[in-house]
Amino acid sequence: MLSGRIAVVTGSSRGIGREIAVTLAAKGATVIVNYNGSAEKAGEVVDVIREAGGEAEAVQCNVSDFNQSAELIKYVIKTYGRIDILVNNAGITRDNLLMKMSEEEFDAVLNTNLKGAFNCIRHASRQMLKQRSGRIINISSISGIMGNAGQANYSASKAGIIGLTKSVARELASRGITVNAIAPGFIDTEMTAVLTDNVRKAAEENIPMKHFGSTKDVANTAAFLASEEAGYITGQVICVDGGMAM
Ligand code: NAP
Repeated sequence: MLSGRIAVVTGSSRGIGREIAVTLAAKGATVIVNYNGSAEKAGEVVDVIREAGGEAEAVQCNVSDFNQSAELIKYVIKTYGRIDILVNNAGITRDNLLMKMSEEEFDAVLNTNLKGAFNCIRHASRQMLKQRSGRIINISSISGIMGNAGQANYSASKAGIIGLTKSVARELASRGITVNAIAPGFIDTEMTAVLTDNVRKAAEENIPMKHFGSTKDVANTAAFLASEEAGYITGQVICVDGGMAM
């Protein structure tokens, strides 16, 4: 159980982040539902959590901005006194073949996916160091392990998250803070809803379990990594991918 824990889930207005927020709240954590543009959807997530008897609050912040991320974490500490769980989930795609990929497409993806995670870790870890406890969970992707044509920017950002996870895990391990990454495979969300039937079928062929995962599959893994029971696990990358990257 996560009673009394304060959790920040970046990009939890939709998709995987939403499921992580709802799952952590169901286990007793107070959840800060971070969003960038989807205020209404973030509000719906808070309503769902409160209706189930949990505690949550929506807070807007563009995590790619160093100062806005500092304000987000500062607000959480001022309001709740601590921060126990940080889930860096906010992510975007701007897919294109290398020869067509613009500098803007590369920068946007790196800034949100990788720098966004760095920003939040950088600000939250100071408080976790004071507490001598904390759980940091970064959402990578099997694209960061296997690569993916058309995703040079996204794969680089997700591989970067793995390096970030391992380095920070080494720095913070002796202070009771664990840092792990989850690498989802194909998960049913708005991000994958744009795939054509043919692309989806081809993807399913490459998954040993032959079907896409659910947001719940990822959220359950995050909840485990956030729990007491996972206290001796750090610097790891857990693939939630139906066996695709093995
Ligand atoms: P999604 O449905 O597109 O949702 C993305 C979330 O990120 C939204 O809540 C969005 O908030 C938020 N976000 C985007 N830019 C942000 C920013 N600058 N600051 C704060 N929040 C921001 O995506 P998803 O499929 O759930 O993916 C979630 C994570 O899992 C991502 O890191 C993604 O790379 C990773 N992942 C997904 C899959 C998959 O198959 N779906 C596979 C592997 C990894 P707003 O709407 O408010 O902007």
